[in-house]
Amino acid sequence: MYPRYQSASALTNSFLGALPDAEYQRLSPHLKKVSLRQGQVLHEAGSPPQSVYFLTEGIASLTLGSVEGKEIELSIVGDEGILGERAIFASNGLQLIRCVMITKGWGYKMPPDLFKKEFNRGGVLQQLVLSRLESRIIETSQTALCNQMHALDQRLCRWLLTFADRLHNEEMAITQELASQMLGVRRAGVTVAAALLRDAGLIECSRGRITIVDRVGLENQVCECYEVIKKATGPSGFEGRKDAESGRRPDSVQRKNQTPTASTMQSAS
Ligand SMILES: [Zn+2]
Repeated sequence: MYPRYQSASALTNSFLGALPDAEYQRLSPHLKKVSLRQGQVLHEAGSPPQSVYFLTEGIASLTLGSVEGKEIELSIVGDEGILGERAIFASNGLQLIRCVMITKGWGYKMPPDLFKKEFNRGGVLQQLVLSRLESRIIETSQTALCNQMHALDQRLCRWLLTFADRLHNEEMAITQELASQMLGVRRAGVTVAAALLRDAGLIECSRGRITIVDRVGLENQVCECYEVIKKATGPSGFEGRKDAESGRRPDSVQRKNQTPTASTMQSAS
């Protein structure tokens, strides 16, 4: 029997929730619910996106790779956002960015051509995508500044806080090895930085898991980049801009309590 949804949180994505009903109803027949495993590549560098994703649980990372095979993280995306919005651009453009799930999760996906068609209608979805692109530019720019200008322990604080915000959980199934990859630094450096934070009573580290135990302390330690990125990309900032544009509260509150019907959602096989 088709399980319509796995949990209440599996229904919520802030981007979809911010759409007016008419636009959401045009998309919904094409939204397919998918289970996503840790390490799953959603978009490979060098290829246009095969699907546009809206996460409802879990975290994805946008990374940029070097010819030597090293990667650095540009953006962390959770249930506040959208993945593959570059489908709106010409398919022969540069496709440099890779997107991979760094936790397991759930989401909805839809064909990029249908997403582009809806974008070209010029409605609220178009405004949301443009707003999201602006947010992405701010996040990647601030991340570049952070990587160049700030100490590793502050960068680790920023990464952990942003990760926890996206995950809605202070206990994260991540390793120091993953943190070093995403921050583009040597593992030994992350080990030292994590030990500093742990000894200060801000985090706890166990096998394959990092837990924030003193968020206020961590926020006092982090560089200004965390707040900049949070304001630019968080759900409140994102929906706040929508409020300003439409002059009303977003539909997301209603959507979060709305159960999709079998006619509007297809299950993953
Ligand atoms: Zn910074």
